Amino acid sequence: MSTTATLLAVQRHTRSEPGHATRVAAAITRLRQAAAAHTPRIVQATSLGAEDMVITDIVARHGLPIVVATLDTGELHRETLELAARIEAHYRLAVERWSPPTEAVVAFVQRHGKRSMFESTVQRKACCALRKLEPLARLLAGRSAWVTGLRRAQSAARAEVPFEAHDEAGRVKFNPLADWSEADVWQYIGDNAVPYNPLHDRFFPSIGCAPCTRAVALGEDPRAGRWWWEHDGTKECGLHVPSVGQRASERHARRGEAVNA
Ligand code: SF4
Repeated sequence: MSTTATLLAVQRHTRSEPGHATRVAAAITRLRQAAAAHTPRIVQATSLGAEDMVITDIVARHGLPIVVATLDTGELHRETLELAARIEAHYRLAVERWSPPTEAVVAFVQRHGKRSMFESTVQRKACCALRKLEPLARLLAGRSAWVTGLRRAQSAARAEVPFEAHDEAGRVKFNPLADWSEADVWQYIGDNAVPYNPLHDRFFPSIGCAPCTRAVALGEDPRAGRWWWEHDGTKECGLHVPSVGQRASERHARRGEAVNA
């Protein structure tokens, strides 16, 4: 007999919740509308996490003209790198990989060491700026819109995530799963046989770079496995947590959050 610890993530987290089909239909509509408004300058910036796999599946399944792109920080788990290749084979679509400049990474490591992220939050954020923010800026250059898998229920820092907002560069940022629960994500994955990172089966609910991600205990906060040694911040790398000013404009945008379904 299976115990919770031996169940796959899709078995552990899937449960039927009222309104699931409605939320799925609304997410598809939002993505379809986003693609129609921004083709060919819209991209899904995927972390290759469970939520982003749902979005990639919708993009592929419905033939939406949205580019799929990810950041290869140079510190990803083997399983994550393999998932990008699995996506390409499974959906027959290309996944763009964006990496930090090799020379800059070499210089950073020579100066600060390979594990300087553990020394201070400042050092950790410097590493995130180099390995994530810099390539993200290039990934987004020339695009008018991007799509993420952010959900409000993921953390307190994400509790106000709108379906749609402008980022600080003026691009439209779509978060079509903003109102989804974790159960919604896994029900969709189970229903549609969506490939996912096997680290989720090993109790990694949120997967980032290998040095900075660990498994969590049953019942522990899903974000507890990210930068677990830090206790003084929002546990974000800067890709998604907006400035105070942007939060205000997002609150404003949320008033019109119902999609034209
Ligand atoms: S998550 Fe860790 S390894 Fe990845 S960029 Fe940030 S500090 Fe560096």
